[in-house]
Amino acid sequence: MDWRERAICLGTDPDLFFPIGDSTSGPTLLQIHEAKAVCRRCPVRQQCLDWALETDAVEGIWGGTTEQERRASKRRLVRRSRNAPAAVA
Ligand code: SF4
Repeated sequence: MDWRERAICLGTDPDLFFPIGDSTSGPTLLQIHEAKAVCRRCPVRQQCLDWALETDAVEGIWGGTTEQERRASKRRLVRRSRNAPAAVA
């Protein structure tokens, strides 16, 4: 079974996960909090987040994260990999 079939958001208005506007305040921020609350209860949250990180150009809330949070997470991973000692062959 594909993880998407177990997604709790299947029964939710999809627009909830695609907030429009200033994500730092007002109704957009409330919408983000509401979407993340759904994700927190989702049994496939990690699979969803992994997918969103792998596909890069994804907008919206996936795996309980915003696009900005995923970009920051990827930047941290890149920085960490650059700072890691090179493997000896
Ligand atoms: S983590 Fe959130 S966006 Fe991803 S499948 Fe679950 S409810 Fe949907």
